[in-house]
Amino acid sequence: MKRGGSGADKGSAKLDAVVAEARRQAEQRERDYRARALKMYPWVCGRCGREFTRENLRELTVHHRDHDHDNNPSDGSNWELLCLYCHDNEHARYVDFVRGEGYGLPSGQGGESEEEGATHRPFAGLDGLLKHGD
Ligand SMILES: [Zn+2]
Ligand SMILES: [Zn+2]
Repeated sequence: MKRGGSGADKGSAKLDAVVAEARRQAEQRERDYRARALKMYPWVCGRCGREFTRENLRELTVHHRDHDHDNNPSDGSNWELLCLYCHDNEHARYVDFVRGEGYGLPSGQGGESEEEGATHRPFAGLDGLLKHGD
């Protein structure tokens, strides 16, 4: 079966492409249902009632009520918008018997974004550094 030798490389390259494509589609699908859910529902956490705007919208997440990422009915009945913290809680209750949706938040990173007027500008001054030199 090993005659020719170059066939294996093509095969694995093709497999890589298939895997990459599957991953891309999964990510695409995730963006897709998120966008649909955000169009369908008001930008409010379904648990704590926190309201969201464009500025902090990335902290509002789409939860699957039955914890099945592949269950995305077009009427949105399996989606619920939750803030990061409530989403984390929701999964903490569930994670004992199912490995959850895996959105990969480190737990215990609370509070950071709650502060109003926090002026942290991590790239302040970077411009000057980059332009340094003659
Ligand atoms: Zn919440
Ligand atoms: Zn969830």
